Amino acid sequence: MILQGKQVKLNRRNGVEFLTFRALEALPFVAHAFSTRIGGVSRNEFSSLNLAFGRGDPDENVTENYRRICAAAGFDEDSLVSSSQVHKTVIRRVGRENCGEGFNKPKPAGVDGLITNEAGVTLVTHYADCVPLFFADPVHKAVGLSHAGWRGTAARIGAETVRALSREFGSIARDLVCVIGPSIGPCCFEVDSPVYEVFSRMTDLSPDEWIHKDGGGKYHIDLWEANRRALVRAGVPEQNIAVSGLCTQCHSDLLFSHRATKGKRGGLSAFLALRGEGDNAD
Ligand SMILES: [Zn+2]
Repeated sequence: MILQGKQVKLNRRNGVEFLTFRALEALPFVAHAFSTRIGGVSRNEFSSLNLAFGRGDPDENVTENYRRICAAAGFDEDSLVSSSQVHKTVIRRVGRENCGEGFNKPKPAGVDGLITNEAGVTLVTHYADCVPLFFADPVHKAVGLSHAGWRGTAARIGAETVRALSREFGSIARDLVCVIGPSIGPCCFEVDSPVYEVFSRMTDLSPDEWIHKDGGGKYHIDLWEANRRALVRAGVPEQNIAVSGLCTQCHSDLLFSHRATKGKRGGLSAFLALRGEGDNAD
């Protein structure tokens, strides 16, 4: 019910709840999902579908949660490739040889975005208020997934992902379909002057239109709009960009929110893959 009117659909399968986006559902060559807190085995602040390793939840719980969301959303567990996010803008091209990285084998450090043009590879990135950016190229059959926290947003990781898709696969910005996923919204992302000043310098994006000055040195910033405008500047047509409009902090019963819990929380994951020939399109 809370999702009414949004670009988001809440799905439930085998007790696991996950989100999908209408703009990507319209692309039959893409499989995607964004996790929620619902349907896992973790307890307490990790309750229950925690997909973040290394935050104090036993690894076997996190592994079981990945098994459950993969079964529910239709991903092969062995196809997962994880990012290792540091709030920078390195975008890494991965292929089938990278499957399992971040799960049953180590992953390289300092990767905030992943791209691939191979079926059988599921890109996985990690969230709890930061902005997920999904990319699909229907012409060159390539996908990308990037993590845009406030630093990544200010550093225009979305535009960086467009460049990486172009360089590696020949993608053209005007062909791309993008989804700006659930994250902390303009309702809840309150910052002080130092962060405000970083965004106020993005003058080509008319920041006064998406920064609200509360007074007293406090500001509310719309990270969705900042990312959307940066993608438009990078050449993605406005009509190809969907904003999910779902705030993690407002919906912390459904989604893990770092701010809502003061950091005592599990993690959400975004999943994006190309379907292979003969894959079921359900
Ligand atoms: Zn909110």
